[in-house]
Amino acid sequence: MADRDWDLFVIGAGSGGVRCARFSAQFGARVAIAEERYLGGTCVNVGCIPKKLMVYASHYTEEAHDAAAGFGWKVGDSSFDWSTLIANKNSEIERLNGIYDGLLDGAGVTLFNGRARIVDPHTVEVDGQQHSAENILVSTGSWPNLPDVPGIEHAITSNEVFYLEEQPKRVLIVGGGYIAVEFAGIFHGLGTEVTQIYRGPLFLRGFDDDVRAHLAGEIRKKGIDLRFDTNVNAIEKTSQGYSVALTDGSTVEVDQVMYATGRVPLSKDLGLEDAGVEVNSKGAILVDEYSRSNVPSIHAIGDVTDRVNLTPVAIHEGVCLSNTLFNGTPMKPVHRDVPAAVFSQPPIGTVGLTEAQAREEYADVDIYESRFRALKHTLTKGDEQTYMKLIVDPKSDRVLGLHMVGPDAGEITQGFAVAIKCGATKAQFDSTIGIHPTSAEEFVTMRTPR
Ligand code: NDP
Repeated sequence: MADRDWDLFVIGAGSGGVRCARFSAQFGARVAIAEERYLGGTCVNVGCIPKKLMVYASHYTEEAHDAAAGFGWKVGDSSFDWSTLIANKNSEIERLNGIYDGLLDGAGVTLFNGRARIVDPHTVEVDGQQHSAENILVSTGSWPNLPDVPGIEHAITSNEVFYLEEQPKRVLIVGGGYIAVEFAGIFHGLGTEVTQIYRGPLFLRGFDDDVRAHLAGEIRKKGIDLRFDTNVNAIEKTSQGYSVALTDGSTVEVDQVMYATGRVPLSKDLGLEDAGVEVNSKGAILVDEYSRSNVPSIHAIGDVTDRVNLTPVAIHEGVCLSNTLFNGTPMKPVHRDVPAAVFSQPPIGTVGLTEAQAREEYADVDIYESRFRALKHTLTKGDEQTYMKLIVDPKSDRVLGLHMVGPDAGEITQGFAVAIKCGATKAQFDSTIGIHPTSAEEFVTMRTPR
């Protein structure tokens, strides 16, 4: 390998690329990484991290105004200042950018700030300088997808929402996936009037149907104007903001229109065609189970491969690839039983099969479910209902899927995901002592199938 400049040249310093670069360097490889935008990628800069900070910010209204009084608290006048939140969030992101820089430096990875382009299967060019590399990794992520709608140039996406100078008083959110439901909750909690529209009959396609229906009910109870079977016909700028004509014939007047209609792999203008790398119709790089493209020296991980588009999955793929290439231990990333959370309000936690998927794979399934008002709400005015569901294969007694809509769903599901990965049976769930009083204990006390 020594006659090339690098053992690994990584394009894109997001979560997956950075992890693979660091681990590869720690295994002794000579590693370079190129980044044209910001260190840490979408997750750190315009995704998971700032989003979660904004979710925290948006919880205070309910806590301070609706919940506190029942517990004896009198909360005085309060107000929310958008610019303080954005400024504090920005400083935290800058701190994280610095940490990523330090991590790369500490691992001995050389960083090039600039746009990289693949010249041939062993050459990458950054700002006119060519680098030869034994292996190239494309970890360029994805970018918001905007459909072709008249006036779409007025819409913002998750790229801009984190940097709005002013909090909109009224917002229209278009889409029914992760980002749309999360931002509907954030804006609502911060006091913005929210309308969310989804083109189909029920949002969050791919999630368990009972979870989807339960969340829709809870979101509506909170006062978000959630509409299904509706899309945008046209967006028009007015003196007051935007007037949006919907396909159901109605019009909504808002200060911002936010599109959260999926993301597309960032694979254009990277030189992939010149190097002969195959992509699919969406632009996703086609890789084998070791994350290798059809060109043996070129690999790809994360959203640009459009497998399971989640930060921890990209990191896992990066760890596997570094082991495969430089540690003598080939590792295939595992994409089954990936736990996930949607930070909607209330949040969703999920791992394993949905009921519909289980019914396709198994002759028979047992469904255990529970719906209840959490203990906390016995003293608040809140009528939020928690929903929990287990999907069990009666033949083997294995728990195939676990789903929840309710406070701390992400935290709870992470723990149970270990049990599901280990192939836990319903009998083992039943023999586990509950932690009382918690919501999580419901998962080990469900006795009768539906
Ligand atoms: P999703 O793919 O989750 O959802 C896209 C939504 O937009 C769907 O409801 C889809 O509808 C709808 N849509 C697509 N095209 C159109 C169109 N032309 N007109 C109207 N609606 C349309 O994408 P997101 O943008 O919400 O999130 C992107 C990715 O980021 C996700 O894959 C997710 O993995 C990741 N993410 C993860 C988070 C987490 O882990 N908590 C948080 C945020 C993002 P339909 O279902 O009908 O196709």
